[in-house]
Amino acid sequence: DTAMYKSKELTGNNYQFYTSGMDRQTLDGVKFVSALYRAVDHQEFVIYYQPKINYLTGEITGVEALVRWNHPERGMVLPGEFIPIAEEIGLIIPIGEWVLRGACEQLKTWHNLGFKDLDVSVNISARQFEQRNLLHTVNSILEETGLSPGDLELELTENIIIKNTEGTLKTMEQFRESGIKIAIDDFGTGFSSLGYLKRFPITTLKVDRSFLKDVDSDYENTAIATTIITLAQNLKLEVIAEGVENQAQIDFLLSKGCTSMQGYYFGKPQSAEQLTNLLLLGVKTR
Ligand code: C2E
Ligand code: MG
Ligand code: MG
Ligand code: MG
Repeated sequence: DTAMYKSKELTGNNYQFYTSGMDRQTLDGVKFVSALYRAVDHQEFVIYYQPKINYLTGEITGVEALVRWNHPERGMVLPGEFIPIAEEIGLIIPIGEWVLRGACEQLKTWHNLGFKDLDVSVNISARQFEQRNLLHTVNSILEETGLSPGDLELELTENIIIKNTEGTLKTMEQFRESGIKIAIDDFGTGFSSLGYLKRFPITTLKVDRSFLKDVDSDYENTAIATTIITLAQNLKLEVIAEGVENQAQIDFLLSKGCTSMQGYYFGKPQSAEQLTNLLLLGVKTR
């Protein structure tokens, strides 16, 4: 909201803008915000898909939808550059809905091609989760696309739980009652207490990739990753490791009984077309 206010203020009073000594970064910020509004109108976004695999079977079990902004001049802009701003100015609502619908439509296409067991994970921002009609939106999309609720997983971060607004638990329960899965993304990087794992109807923990760095030399990271995997197993939750890039990480994860993996080793986020080829060819697991 602040950024939107600033943007209006600045465009409405350019003279003051140039004399008040604001730096170039602010000007870029204003341009960036208006470009982002245009991008929503012109649908300049693209969804990339990263495979999630079961190492034991070597199968792709699902994909994570990761949005990119195909900027007319700059090419593919990564979400880290525009999602935080989209969250701040509220554009995450239309962008997020567009991603949800696009990812579900694409999943249906893959089901129709014969990849019937594939599911899709979609990242949901706190601001999106707080929208009263999110449940309705999601259910309409499932109905439109003819997917089952179990084909969809929502990836939430711990900050949604920390905020713990009145509706958080209720909304999560409604999603779970309808059969939609809920993953906690970047698990272990937030500041929430572990007690919430008991109260909230979570299905999956995603081990943050920072804990898988240097598995053969970083004792602390390895200890944390091990603890998260054990925690998930003891609570009968699914666990998936993100950011898997090498064999040492794979060996470590297998030794702890974590067989669901995602990372550059198996496939980077890629276009739907490229992912279709990967589905047809299969991923390398050894
Ligand atoms: P995330 O949900 O934790 O997604 C994983 C990020 O790690 C992705 O970055 C992915 O490309 C990257 N990654 C995957 N495997 C590896 C690996 O082996 N090595 C390394 N170094 N990186 C790996 P990406 O696509 O840039 O997305 C960044 C973040 O932006 C996401 O983190 C998510 O929080 C957010 N995001 C992406 N798409 C959406 C969206 O549609 N809606 C919302 N609200 N947030 C999104
Ligand atoms: Mg994610
Ligand atoms: Mg993550
Ligand atoms: Mg992460």
